[in-house]
Amino acid sequence: MERESLEMDVVFVGAGPANLSGALHLARLVREYNEAIANGTRAGESLGEIEIGVIEKGASVGAHILSGAVMDPRALAELMPDYAEQGAPIETPVLEDEFLYLTKKRAIKSPITPPPLKNHGYHIVSQNRLTAWLGEKCEEAGVNIFPEFPGAEMLYDRDDRVIGVRTGDKGIDREGRQKANYEPGVDLFAKVTVLGEGARGSLTKQLSQRLNLNDGREPQVYSLGVKELWELPDDRFALGRVTHTLGYPSDTKTYGGGWIYGMPNRVISIGYVTGLDYGDPLLDPHAEFQRFKMHPFIARLLNGGKMIRYGAKTIAAGGLHAMPQLYADGVLLTGDCAGFLNSQRLKGIHTAIKSGMLAAETIFAALLAGDYSAGQLSRYERLVSESWITPELRSVRNFHAGFKGGRWLGMANAGLQFLTG
Ligand SMILES: Cc1cc2nc3c(=O)[nH]c(=O)nc-3n(C[C@H](O)[C@H](O)[C@H](O)COP(=O)(O)OP(=O)(O)OC[C@H]3O[C@@H](n4cnc5c(N)ncnc54)[C@H](O)[C@@H]3O)c2cc1C
Repeated sequence: MERESLEMDVVFVGAGPANLSGALHLARLVREYNEAIANGTRAGESLGEIEIGVIEKGASVGAHILSGAVMDPRALAELMPDYAEQGAPIETPVLEDEFLYLTKKRAIKSPITPPPLKNHGYHIVSQNRLTAWLGEKCEEAGVNIFPEFPGAEMLYDRDDRVIGVRTGDKGIDREGRQKANYEPGVDLFAKVTVLGEGARGSLTKQLSQRLNLNDGREPQVYSLGVKELWELPDDRFALGRVTHTLGYPSDTKTYGGGWIYGMPNRVISIGYVTGLDYGDPLLDPHAEFQRFKMHPFIARLLNGGKMIRYGAKTIAAGGLHAMPQLYADGVLLTGDCAGFLNSQRLKGIHTAIKSGMLAAETIFAALLAGDYSAGQLSRYERLVSESWITPELRSVRNFHAGFKGGRWLGMANAGLQFLTG
């Protein structure tokens, strides 16, 4: 059976906040430029129609994204200043912050919320609804979205320049044999391919190894976030309340913490993060979350409620020191797969959106120059270093490493880092 191929200008791999924002911003930059050429307010030649595609391995946009997050709206406001009027699915503004220290039996409320955990004015969002909405905005802007298209392999030319991506074959049985409905994957050729696969992306790993994008960088460190949505029987957890916890069940040597976010209709997002650099070989992050839920304070909260969704996902927590080179010939990296997450605040949606926008600005300049080489695309790293992302990530660059000596040293380090910047 012959393999199909498709020629596009730009292919984004992964329909998360990073790449959807990138695709949307790029479509808009191209449209505005072409309109300015057409009405004579700008000199030059029209770029014509630029084909932008986004491939997503999930059955639909947002299907593989975990719900219930607190979003710093800074980047979304830059992408779409009127995002509220445009129907962005904001569940509720954050109305109340709370920080609890859990001992085995008790929950002690801190009189102050540590500044990095203050979320007042931010939004609680369902991440999969937000992503699905960004996908709709992309389609309205003329971006082609291909769900159920997992990127399986990068395509290179003879000089190791990225020239696109091959999607996975369909109709393969467990033993790897072709079934009657076998269809070979499609080769999507592009001038620029943008990887926005989220943490531990498979193509990102292949690419980084082949092109040595991690040379001279610290190795990435990971945490695992286990998250559930619960429907409570009554209003016992206030809408818009954001609670963070430290302490039980993690021991003082293990990096970990919990959260509870109050969403509409008596739904809460509850979860627990465990650093995967734990020392105890018998520790299981999923079991840690179960123990968290059995703490008397949490168990009381969940009593009589119903779990309605669950999931778990890795978090790339290494920050600035662990970021790979963000570009190579014909390719850029955005969002979590490039380590843009702020692990101190457990927030990566805003940096993912911003990284996607900066990737779009880089690609737009490359389209104008007709040059997709690493030299041209290195502009992306310059834009990142000049943007607010870099000071934000620089100020927390040692956060995770600070916990190597245990919880108390980590907290002291985090405090010092906050004071010294
Ligand atoms: C438990 C947990 C809680 C979090 N809480 C918050 C929070 O409260 N606030 C906050 O700001 N951030 C939070 N984050 C971080 C936030 O989810 C990420 O920073 C953000 O989603 C990164 O966006 P992204 O677009 O880079 O990647 P993702 O959102 O991970 O999207 C990647 C997409 O690419 C698709 N994909 C991957 N590989 C391929 C492939 N090869 N081919 C095709 N498609 C592919 C995936 O299916 C997915 O749809 C949390 C993360 C976790 C794990």
